[in-house]
Amino acid sequence: MSSDAFRALPAVDELARHPLLRAYENNVGRALVLDAIRAQLDAARAAIRAGQPAPTSAQLVDALIERIERALRPTLTRVVNATGVILHTNLGRAPLSADALQALDDAAASYANLEYALDTGQRGSRYEHAEELVKKLTGAEAALIVNNNAAAVLLILRAFAAGREVIVSRGQLVEIGGGFRVPDVLRESGATMVEVGTTNRTRRADFENALTPNTALLLRVHPSNFRVVGFTQEVSPEEMAALAHQHQLLAVDDVGSGALLDTAAYGLAPEPTPQASLRAGADLVTFSGDKLLGGPQAGILVGKQTLVTRLKKHPLTRALRVDKLTLAALHATLLHYLKGEAPQKIPVWQMISAPLETLNQRAEAWRAAWRAAGLDARVVDARSTVGGGSLPGETLPTRAVALYVPSPDAFVRALRANEPPIIARIENDAVLCDPRTVLPHDETALLEGVARAAHLV
Ligand SMILES: *Cc1c(COP(=O)(O)O)cnc(C)c1O
Repeated sequence: MSSDAFRALPAVDELARHPLLRAYENNVGRALVLDAIRAQLDAARAAIRAGQPAPTSAQLVDALIERIERALRPTLTRVVNATGVILHTNLGRAPLSADALQALDDAAASYANLEYALDTGQRGSRYEHAEELVKKLTGAEAALIVNNNAAAVLLILRAFAAGREVIVSRGQLVEIGGGFRVPDVLRESGATMVEVGTTNRTRRADFENALTPNTALLLRVHPSNFRVVGFTQEVSPEEMAALAHQHQLLAVDDVGSGALLDTAAYGLAPEPTPQASLRAGADLVTFSGDKLLGGPQAGILVGKQTLVTRLKKHPLTRALRVDKLTLAALHATLLHYLKGEAPQKIPVWQMISAPLETLNQRAEAWRAAWRAAGLDARVVDARSTVGGGSLPGETLPTRAVALYVPSPDAFVRALRANEPPIIARIENDAVLCDPRTVLPHDETALLEGVARAAHLV
């Protein structure tokens, strides 16, 4: 019986002649269609061996079309972020502003003067493009843009501390989402880590007692994704810099999120700014481009001219360099700060500063639409978070829509299977959609996707 089932399967050529598959062949090429047919027939044979009947031709063609469509779909796709987590590392952190997108588009579709000085016609430096603005905005003598903040920290340690000792507080041996672990980065750089203090308390004297002739630098790392409360003490940036300079050492500060604006003005805890860190005396300060800065993935390094000049010549810098797209998007993002329009133009700041009344109006509109689709939807008080390795434990009051569905798990799964996928969270047995992180151009997709999921589960 099972050999009959094997014989019932059509041959590759025969399937390839099916009109629907011929149409695909015209669009996507013969090789892709034939690959799919072979894979589908393999799957059918495996199913038959497992005791199942042979698929009909119609079933095979359906499955093939599904398989070809899947192969053509990009694995990296836009998603709708209804989680209320503004800087979601797994969802790509900061979405870019309209100006940054335009700059990306212009740089991508044409040639660019990436390393070409237009006034002289000579070779220029890619590092000039966003760095002037970074210097202006942070008050730094010099700046360097690399691939991400982890790269910036690695480069500094490699260039100035390889084979020597780096002193760091035990309270700052952090792991940031995405596998940035301070001890690992230190080891990769070839430096020796000297831990001082305790998890909750580190004093100036702890650093002083750990100094040896082989000490290269004192490192501060902003514990950006957790908070130690209670009986705590850390050495201030000022003290750290003073101590370093007293002993002819470097003070390096990884401030993490790169907030150029004062988060306290938005009802959030203060986040260290690169400007303040430089004023406190740090020789080199590093931060990310795609956290609170609101730009593309990048590592921004600011500080003393002599040190940055040495870093620019370091061979590792070549391996960590950014492309013209990053520089274009970063420059456009930084211009928003220069023009004083960052809160209005940069999506993450628009989200942080969204008035509760606006959030409530959007939530009410969604509720009405989803009620009409037969869902039990209610507008509720909830909390959004900044996330992404910044402002740990800090939340913003929001108005969200709670969907009371028979199976919240099945519902969020259906939302993830939507095109585009919708990411929501479950809270108190309801599926919660937070308007704060849903971009205006994603709103229609969200409204339709939720209504569709309501019919599926
Ligand atoms: C996020 C973060 C990093 C890693 O930054 P990437 O840009 O993701 O490489 C390093 N240090 C601190 C303190 C951070 O918050």
